[in-house]
Amino acid sequence: MRSVDELIADGVSGRRVLLRADLNVPLDKDSGAITDDGRIRASLPTLQALQAAGARVVVAAHLGRPKGAPDPRFSLAPVAARLGEMLGAPVILAGDVAGTDATAKVAGLADGEVLLLENVRFEAAETSKDDAERGELADRLAALADFYVDDAFGAVHRKHASVYDVALRLPHAAGRLVARELEVLTRLTESPERPYVVVLGGSKVSDKLGVIEALLPKVDRLLIGGGMTYTFLAARGLEVGSSLLEADQVETCKRLLAEAGDRIVLPVDVVVTPEFSADVPTRVLPATGIPADEMSLDIGPKSVELFTEALTGAHTVFWNGPMGVFELAPFQGGTRGVAQAVGAVEGLSVVGGGDSAASVRQLGLDEGAYGHISTGGGASLEYLEGRELPGLAVLAD
Ligand code: ADP
Ligand code: MG
Repeated sequence: MRSVDELIADGVSGRRVLLRADLNVPLDKDSGAITDDGRIRASLPTLQALQAAGARVVVAAHLGRPKGAPDPRFSLAPVAARLGEMLGAPVILAGDVAGTDATAKVAGLADGEVLLLENVRFEAAETSKDDAERGELADRLAALADFYVDDAFGAVHRKHASVYDVALRLPHAAGRLVARELEVLTRLTESPERPYVVVLGGSKVSDKLGVIEALLPKVDRLLIGGGMTYTFLAARGLEVGSSLLEADQVETCKRLLAEAGDRIVLPVDVVVTPEFSADVPTRVLPATGIPADEMSLDIGPKSVELFTEALTGAHTVFWNGPMGVFELAPFQGGTRGVAQAVGAVEGLSVVGGGDSAASVRQLGLDEGAYGHISTGGGASLEYLEGRELPGLAVLAD
């Protein structure tokens, strides 16, 4: 895989470089303000290296999940503004992805200047399953540049036009963030130092069950928290009330518990509430006692203790997914406790996932306590699962 530094060494001054970056930052539901700019910051090293080398940098990125058409709620305008502040020079935002405005603005770029294309997911073709549809968008994106650099680690597991197809059309290289992520993930997959403990939480239950299956034979302990908890509790025949539940995955969870119940650690207590809100009374109850008319939005203190015990003495830890709805103050305890235990690990500790990384910062924890904070949740999980990631495979060719 060619690196961006090799590309720079060969000379990019005055050349147009299409940089796929991961600028998919969380936004406040009401104000639309950026609540965590970690991903923007993580994209700076590659961006600044290209700028310093005199490249005309055309940045492509996605934000949220617009429905394949322009939608002001998902405009990259706030990202362009924040990126400009960080770079100390304004970042121009194109009015479209790869249309007439983008083309005109690219033509006007000076050496070292940065143009941000509008949200690539404003084009339905970006995420299309149809090769020809994606190809048409990739053609237009490729026409904007001489080289392609992928630094969007959080998107390398997607076979999307701006991640995969465009790399087939331009001389390409991997950005510094992608290189760093790969270095750490390789350490997790190639003979990790034992005990190896993985903590999984978050909300994308069915996404993560595949990972659990792949990881179970490789880890010493798998700690389950977050939204996945309740499908596992249901598999044990327990009431979960209106907590997150994927009924069609209960059988899978039953099988996993039967096959590897000795390695899977589930929460023993939970924080329940009648409503998904920060302003309602909460109770800590045993995991066996969730009332039918309430929901659990966090793991309880005894679970944090249990998880901390399992993490103490681990030499390799990978954590993905908050333990609860940490965005709401009453449900932060589980994530905070587990994040602290992961940070205290003596060996290699890796945090993966946009929301997990955001939780570390939002809860005011020390980022320096972790060996690595990955910007990509799905991507790092699929890598650990041993799957081929389209965005990486295409860079290696
Ligand atoms: P990451 O981005 O780190 O990979 P996910 O995107 O899978 O993590 O999940 C993050 C989300 O999971 C958070 O927004 C959090 O509110 C939510 N979550 C965690 N626990 C629960 C729960 N018990 N019920 C509902 N949502 C939950
Ligand atoms: Mg997420």
